[in-house]
Amino acid sequence: MIAYNLDYFKPETTEEAYECMKTLKEDKVNALYYSGGTEVITNLRKGASKADAVIDLKGIVEMSEILVEDEYIVVGANVPLNVMIEHPELESVMPILNKIADHTVRNALTIGGNICGKLPFREAVLPLLALNSSIKWVDESGIKESLLRDVFDKRLKLPPNAFLYQIMIPRNAGGQMISKRMEAHTEVDYPILHVVMNISDTEVFVGLSGFSSFPVYQLIPRNVYDEWSDPVGSIAGLFEKDAKSDERASKEYRVHLLKNQIALFTGGAYDSL
Ligand SMILES: Cc1cc2nc3c(=O)[nH]c(=O)nc-3n(C[C@H](O)[C@H](O)[C@H](O)COP(=O)(O)OP(=O)(O)OC[C@H]3O[C@@H](n4cnc5c(N)ncnc54)[C@H](O)[C@@H]3O)c2cc1C
Repeated sequence: MIAYNLDYFKPETTEEAYECMKTLKEDKVNALYYSGGTEVITNLRKGASKADAVIDLKGIVEMSEILVEDEYIVVGANVPLNVMIEHPELESVMPILNKIADHTVRNALTIGGNICGKLPFREAVLPLLALNSSIKWVDESGIKESLLRDVFDKRLKLPPNAFLYQIMIPRNAGGQMISKRMEAHTEVDYPILHVVMNISDTEVFVGLSGFSSFPVYQLIPRNVYDEWSDPVGSIAGLFEKDAKSDERASKEYRVHLLKNQIALFTGGAYDSL
């Protein structure tokens, strides 16, 4: 139970949603967008965050759909992870998304909520960055489009009051995506390291969740990567400064897991002793 009154709005168009947020903010009302609600409601219940109003984006129909177009699979920000996992055109991201939370939570948890969430993990962003996806987002002047890589740096950087509308995943991004998720306890736990690697003809993508206080990634031009005599050391060197220590694992252990996994992915050498 949330121990105080909360105003609830459910707009049906993007314009209405944006105007609703803008008006509330002008009236100094602390308002949040809301999609799956797994983070918003949990935090409000625990008192970890405070809001006077929520704007439920699920009234905007096209934000709950998956459309297959010539170049892109267009996924509405309100689509739950389980719907993406079961979609035949989204097999490449399925092995990553189906590691997030458990089946019941994934029925509610949305792709937009995961990307825009405040928790450090946001694992769903890794395959989207790897495939060089674009996003559409809404601000005062309507629907805008950006490459996700241009607007995601530790978190999704949208202008004030803007919200995420759709994600456009290229159908022929190229490359071979591999991933490995490691947890401290059981499989249904936040990761201490989730590595996603995509090796294409032109670039090598390496993205990590659970390693830092935010998702991190690096893009390595394929010709540079091919020249590396020690890909394990070179890749680990790009990330080492971001490693965190917490109650689940030390930074040294996270770096060890990363080196070990990159060695397994690339066939490179890593002698942990
Ligand atoms: C039991 C459990 C286990 C979990 N395990 C993992 C895990 O292992 N890995 C992982 O990555 N995640 C995990 N999560 C999910 C993660 O912690 C977030 O809570 C979740 O991704 C939020 O998604 P949601 O759809 O419920 O978003 P909501 O709770 O609705 O919103 C989350 C945040 O995003 C904002 N927001 C939502 N939609 C939009 C939008 N369209 N535009 C702009 N802002 C928006 C909200 O204002 C809020 O700040 C877990 C969650 C639970 C409950």
